Amino acid sequence: MTINGGISFWYATDRTATHQPPRAPLTGHATADVVIVGGGYTGLWTAYYLKTAAPDLRVTVLEQKFCGFGASGRNGGWLYNGIAGRDRYAELHGHQAAQRLQRAMNDTVTEVIDTAAKESIDADIHRGGVLEVARTPAQLSRLKAFHTAELAFGESDRELYDATDTRARIDIADAVGSTWTPHGARIHPLKLARGLAAACERLGVVIHESTPVTEIAPRRAVTPYGTVRAPYVLRCTEGFTAALKGHKRSWLPMNSSMIATAPLPPEVWDRIGWSDACTLGDMAHAYMYAQRTADDRIALGGRGVPYRFGSRTDTDGTTQQATIASLTNLLTAFFPLLTGVEITHAWSGVLGVPRDWCATVTLDRTTGLGWAGGYVGSGVATSNLAARTLRDLVLGEASDLTALPWVNHRVRRWEPEPFRWLGVQALYAAYREADRHETKTHAPQTTPLARLADRISGRH
Ligand SMILES: Cc1cc2nc3c(=O)[nH]c(=O)nc-3n(C[C@H](O)[C@H](O)[C@H](O)COP(=O)(O)OP(=O)(O)OC[C@H]3O[C@@H](n4cnc5c(N)ncnc54)[C@H](O)[C@@H]3O)c2cc1C
Repeated sequence: MTINGGISFWYATDRTATHQPPRAPLTGHATADVVIVGGGYTGLWTAYYLKTAAPDLRVTVLEQKFCGFGASGRNGGWLYNGIAGRDRYAELHGHQAAQRLQRAMNDTVTEVIDTAAKESIDADIHRGGVLEVARTPAQLSRLKAFHTAELAFGESDRELYDATDTRARIDIADAVGSTWTPHGARIHPLKLARGLAAACERLGVVIHESTPVTEIAPRRAVTPYGTVRAPYVLRCTEGFTAALKGHKRSWLPMNSSMIATAPLPPEVWDRIGWSDACTLGDMAHAYMYAQRTADDRIALGGRGVPYRFGSRTDTDGTTQQATIASLTNLLTAFFPLLTGVEITHAWSGVLGVPRDWCATVTLDRTTGLGWAGGYVGSGVATSNLAARTLRDLVLGEASDLTALPWVNHRVRRWEPEPFRWLGVQALYAAYREADRHETKTHAPQTTPLARLADRISGRH
């Protein structure tokens, strides 16, 4: 029996999470030096670094449900060095600026691992790098181009494998090649979020859960229980941003769905390999991502229903049966020996997608309003870099981080409905069709349909 929803596998199987009562909500008007809306990685890391740098600063986090309710408690657990928009930032600010951004992301993976260790956060972190695999000739041509581009951004430690070497690492059916980077680790996402919230509280950050913010305005965050006034108000609401007044078309809430298998026995792992527990992805247009969990399951994700009309977001992660079936098919296409394996959990979450698919971190000093996000599917590490950058911006300290090209980037809003819905449906239909075509025909290059979809969407 598959448990469908229940926030996520990470939440449903973490007894300390399910049994901990929420932190107390706000109970009246309050003041702070910095108020942060959202208790995911972005909000919590920002609170953490602000309080570490300036212990006297009064920092309050307002979270509508509980810390880790959003993508930070539901994701695939790839802590890795990818950042949405790097190539666009190279176009806008030059290759060297984008290289600095990439280097900062590489360092961020280490920063998260080291800080988790320093704060005694046990998040099942295992640094096995990231393996991205091609299973068709067209995927292989994209993989090689991707590998070359990453080398040009300074990843001299990245490696390229042929079919034999790929399958020696992980026995994936039809694998024709792969690329591996050491700049990645497998994590238990919710344990990181919860550990981080506890670390913030130890430093003196005030966290109110069950406290939805209904309006963000200069120097105030309004909730049904009172208003928190502060010189700085930071919006860290990622995929939920569209629900805030005035932000319906800022970032599109994109769904991503996951399944987890029952723990697999040692004899299955002997055949699959995957002994270094690197995170695993592919080069399909509607790509998949997976990890070998600390308790020896496979957790695998990809796109289900990509977007709900009117920028609606789900609540508890309940996932359509068709999506569970298609992710299960994908799992067994990768690992045919898992045919019939028990899928114990299925869940979904939302991530924030800006119109130009570029992550950003911004502070408007005149209003005191700041925000970070739009990470698309790469926010586990990026949120940490964003948080350290927000810290420097709030404290008014010009630094290497505040000089990075994604700082204070502005982007136009998404189209109104129904164009937004129609556009996303068409985009993902095109990607699914392109994947089908490339698999069926063994086309050596990316199909023109997918190239067109990339150009129209602004994704590349
Ligand atoms: C299924 C899935 C898989 C993913 N896999 C990966 C991966 O493997 N690697 C990777 O790098 N990235 C991945 N991502 C993306 C990554 O998880 C996110 O980018 C990251 O967690 C964003 O953190 P955040 O704090 O900005 O947002 P969130 O974690 O979504 O936190 C936002 C918080 O704000 C709260 N909030 C929203 N509105 C309000 C309000 N009005 N008032 C008060 N509180 C509010 C929410 O309840 C939520 O807790 C994945 C995302 C999903 C959904």
